[in-house]
Amino acid sequence: MQNIFNFSAGPAMLPQEVMQQAQEELINWQGLGTSVMEVSHRGKPFIEVAEQAESDLRELLQIPSNYTVLFMHGGGRGQFSAVPLNISTSFDLSQHLVSGQWSIGAEQEAQKFCRTSIVATSKKIDGKMYVPTQDEWSIAEESGYFHYCTNETVDGVEINWVPKSASGNVPIVADMSSNILSKPINIEDFGIIYAGAQKNIGPSGLSVVIVRNDLIGKARKDTPAIFNYQLQANSGSMYNTPPTFSWYLAGLVFKWLKAQGGLEAMAQLNLRKSHILYEQIDATGFYKNNVHNDYRSKMNVTFQLRDESLNDLFLEQAESNGLVALKGHRAVGGMRASIYNAMPLAGAQALADFMQEFERKNG
Ligand SMILES: *Cc1c(COP(=O)(O)O)cnc(C)c1O
Repeated sequence: MQNIFNFSAGPAMLPQEVMQQAQEELINWQGLGTSVMEVSHRGKPFIEVAEQAESDLRELLQIPSNYTVLFMHGGGRGQFSAVPLNISTSFDLSQHLVSGQWSIGAEQEAQKFCRTSIVATSKKIDGKMYVPTQDEWSIAEESGYFHYCTNETVDGVEINWVPKSASGNVPIVADMSSNILSKPINIEDFGIIYAGAQKNIGPSGLSVVIVRNDLIGKARKDTPAIFNYQLQANSGSMYNTPPTFSWYLAGLVFKWLKAQGGLEAMAQLNLRKSHILYEQIDATGFYKNNVHNDYRSKMNVTFQLRDESLNDLFLEQAESNGLVALKGHRAVGGMRASIYNAMPLAGAQALADFMQEFERKNG
């Protein structure tokens, strides 16, 4: 097999070691003569996998004991609905910071369940996308929760500070679908963290939810049972059959992360990878990135060619060099290199080298 570097934004590449292990044990898992996806979620072998995955995730993210971890269905968007459904009995308003495509999506979905307001929207300053900081806006104390997206996958905008209400009482809800586990975070800054799995955790369909215990048990009566945090918490995320294969694979990824040195090590690696690419983008003006330096994503590096008529040639030649899935989201255009945890340093370097060579030939 040719060495391919897959820059897909999601579902995204998973660590090669993990995929190899999954392949090796696919048809005869733990000597049981079946695969992990063919056994009961209530049997001892799977329960052990499920519990180990949770405990490894807790260790990686240093999740305090007053937070519950849920492995749910429905990906990232499922939580756009689940969050307001689960906590909107006690209030009428949710507030939102809009920094790109996903945070606006969450706000639009929340409108079905409560009143919403947008505290601020990202904007261009000197041609660079910028997210207003809290000296320009504040969180209303009557707000039931405050929602934002820590990394805008489509726009390549990552927010490195955590919003706060003046009293500290408004729960901060974060969509971390595309940068969870990419660096250490302080869980206690958040009321709820959720992430669709297919960027940095495992196969799509699964969502990992980390919820502070006092926010559990406030669901609207009409909340679908499988989205009810209380029911899921009481049943160890097995109110119904969970996405077992995804859960198992997520567990392998958590083990892999621990073996890599945990989230400090990932943060350093991700910094180096993104730096290599942004340095190449900034080198001459042949390429450009339109995100303010403070907000450039370490996970999704977006860039444009100054001469857009070269886009197709760029993508075609990149692909024949084994650099695939670089086309930017249709809403943004240009290119996007998604470099989640599983992307090795060599992948970022290969792309930077290709970009340099492409510029030499076409600049
Ligand atoms: C991919 C993504 C989602 C949507 O995830 P689905 O599993 O497709 O619902 C939501 N938020 C962010 C930040 C994402 O990157």
